[in-house]
Amino acid sequence: MNDLHTLSLCDIRDQLARGERRPSEVVEACLARTAATEPKIHACITLCAQEARAAAAALEAAGPPTPAQKLWGVPVTLKDVLCTQGIRTTAASRMLENFIPPYDAFVVKRLKEAGAIILAKTNLDEFAMGSSTETSTYATTSNPWCIERVPGGSSGGSAASVAAMQAYGSLGSDTGGSIRQPAALCGCVGIKASYGRVSRYGSISYGSSFDQVGPLARTVKDAALLLSVIAGYDEQDAACADMPTPDYSACAAAKKDLAGLRLGLPREYWQEGLAPEVEQACLAAVETAKSLGATIQEVSLPHFRYGVAAYYILASAEASTNLARYDGVRFGLRSGPETDIVQSYTATRSQGFGEEVKRRILLGTYALSSGYYDAYYTKAAKIRRLILQDFEQALAGCDALLAPASPVVAWKFGAYKNDPLTSYKMDVLTLSLNLAGLPGLSLPVGLAAESHLPVGMQVIGRAFDEEGIIGIAAALEAAMPQLGMPRGL
Ligand code: GLN
Repeated sequence: MNDLHTLSLCDIRDQLARGERRPSEVVEACLARTAATEPKIHACITLCAQEARAAAAALEAAGPPTPAQKLWGVPVTLKDVLCTQGIRTTAASRMLENFIPPYDAFVVKRLKEAGAIILAKTNLDEFAMGSSTETSTYATTSNPWCIERVPGGSSGGSAASVAAMQAYGSLGSDTGGSIRQPAALCGCVGIKASYGRVSRYGSISYGSSFDQVGPLARTVKDAALLLSVIAGYDEQDAACADMPTPDYSACAAAKKDLAGLRLGLPREYWQEGLAPEVEQACLAAVETAKSLGATIQEVSLPHFRYGVAAYYILASAEASTNLARYDGVRFGLRSGPETDIVQSYTATRSQGFGEEVKRRILLGTYALSSGYYDAYYTKAAKIRRLILQDFEQALAGCDALLAPASPVVAWKFGAYKNDPLTSYKMDVLTLSLNLAGLPGLSLPVGLAAESHLPVGMQVIGRAFDEEGIIGIAAALEAAMPQLGMPRGL
């Protein structure tokens, strides 16, 4: 077997563009790598081998690439919440087991226009609710660094497929950390852009005021290129910002040091519950930032500690509303008698949804019920505003913030099976950014001293300053040792 799969996305893209490789050759290399690694990691729900081969042949027939085809012939995977025309899209739920979308999500359309090839639809927590990919109906995905451990979640299949080098990049979605946290646990780069930067049209909704689609890749430059391709205005998503898209690849390439930059360490992120080996790896990256010329200062986010509670009330409330559409009439599964709408509705939703999704629907419906709306929903919405104000204040005096992405490294399967509350608390370091709508990038900063598992650090920026955080991450990445091949394969 050749080792084409070990190249970075940008390197394979360049070789393809120069005509040194053919798309079909690259697709075969990725399919071979997927066949070799999938029995161990189970990253994919649906492998699109036939479609990928056909797409490669079509590109070759129409080639060479045009300047707009920035990903010509590059195989990527997609979290299975992104609608793909003619290819089953399940959200890892029994509810959508046989759902074949009649259209592509906006980001999928953008990828195809850029010449990317879809290799597989990847596993996730059901409807993106979870932090370990264990709530999927279909498979248990393993972390390529240690197959007895979770890859994180909910975009765990995307992160595992990228870390295992099945594909050069992937798209995930991040409602409370689902790109950044699995990226951290699998040793990848993940970007959640500002709320409104990327269209969610055709992305299966979880919490609509939080959801962002974004890239996972093996380097900052690779993730930046993917973001350049998918970002931009789309009138089909009412929350999509109508503003120009900067060239993120250029900022990933431009930044060589951090001279003159002020970087804040939000005290609250570095306190409670942080595993010592995670803290140590992240502090070493902070030292690297210093050595590159950055000034480091401590900042504070006083309402940080209310984030988990506010997020789980608001996100569950939105989920309960969004998931009302799965009624057995319009989408997906239908169970129960055809003659009784109430029984059919009950049977469909009882059988179609898993335990965690039902828990969220119950929590959300409760928080929105008339007697409790003010006590829970309104209060959480107020906290959300205070959290944003804290960030704005901190970022007024700093160019960006540095903070760990997950309090712990990848954990063993089943560790939080009967303890949903503790697993919710594990999102404490990522979900504030979704409450505030700010951009964050998770960067691998090394292997933890004891567990030898990857650690990720977030670079957090001002609203719509993806350029800033990508530049900082690129400079840090260049100054730090690479993680190398995942050790669990
Ligand atoms: N773990 C969080 C949740 O379950 C975040 C998930 C996500 O970002 N999709 O809500």
